[in-house]
Amino acid sequence: MSGEPRKARYGLIGYPVSHSMSPAIFNAAFCAAGINAVYELYPIPPDRLDEGVGEILDKGVSGLNVTLPHKARVIGLMKDLDKSARLVGAVNTIDVTGQGMVGYNTDMGGFEDSLGPLGVPGISGARALVLGAGGAARAILVSLARLGASEIIVANRFIKEAGDMVSLVAPGYPDVRFEIILLENREVERMAPGAVLCVQATSLGLNETDPLPMEPALLPGGCFIYDLVYGTSQTAFVRSAKAGGYRAADGKEMLLRQAARAFRLWFQTEPPLDAMRNAIDRAVGNRKPPETSRQG
Ligand code: NDP
Repeated sequence: MSGEPRKARYGLIGYPVSHSMSPAIFNAAFCAAGINAVYELYPIPPDRLDEGVGEILDKGVSGLNVTLPHKARVIGLMKDLDKSARLVGAVNTIDVTGQGMVGYNTDMGGFEDSLGPLGVPGISGARALVLGAGGAARAILVSLARLGASEIIVANRFIKEAGDMVSLVAPGYPDVRFEIILLENREVERMAPGAVLCVQATSLGLNETDPLPMEPALLPGGCFIYDLVYGTSQTAFVRSAKAGGYRAADGKEMLLRQAARAFRLWFQTEPPLDAMRNAIDRAVGNRKPPETSRQG
């Protein structure tokens, strides 16, 4: 038997997981920080979540990230939930402790941490637009409400999903006015005046052939357009926004910042951001067309 200390194990559960950039980001971080650990992919089909997680825990894993479709259902397996996971209703990071698994949501904080570096204008007292009503949209909704937005317009292709999401978030923020509209140009144009930020949180843009979720030119000139989707080059929505003279960014900074938060949780030390950012740039360059990939 070798006398080498055993590598700590970390990884991502989801289905599918094969297109994830997380192994590249975290293995680069472990290397740069001199941490003796490895980050692996653990595909778990939806109908095997409980057994799949049990098997991974038996391997002695110390921490996990969680992606679609498990972010909400995995809550039932947690011994404890951090406030971030309770607010968003989803877990994307798990700390495996001696007492059991503790669930966190770092998407919300990752989004907030990205705003300054990207130069997004202040949200307090302002109107913002959120496109989409899935898991990422809910994290953004909570963030914008926490940051003091006065009005948040949610645009989704199905009103019911948007209504369900808003009814979960709105009661915690009585000072924020929430509006729900259909994700279509005419409706966005009606509600866009005065908006300082538009967050694109639908999965449109993962494939180059996807239509734009809406016409960026309908937004006011000073509006910052933040697309949470990221890919080999800037998304079509970001390209179109920039061509129209808007300030715009894709989801890579949020991807970096949510991973940085997971790193801090697991190791209680500052993450090597430059190494992680370089790993994202390399992984984005090497990425195959993300047909089914959605994971952060
Ligand atoms: P979900 O599957 O939970 O939600 C997907 C959303 O996209 C829903 O609102 C859905 O609307 C909408 N949508 C899907 N297809 C269409 C379409 N054809 N037209 C209009 N709307 C559509 O995914 P997530 O919320 O977890 O993720 C959304 C995106 O955000 C993904 O691309 C993901 O990569 C990205 N993301 C980025 C992160 C980052 O760190 N940068 C972190 C997390 C997510 P409907 O209700 O009508 O079905």
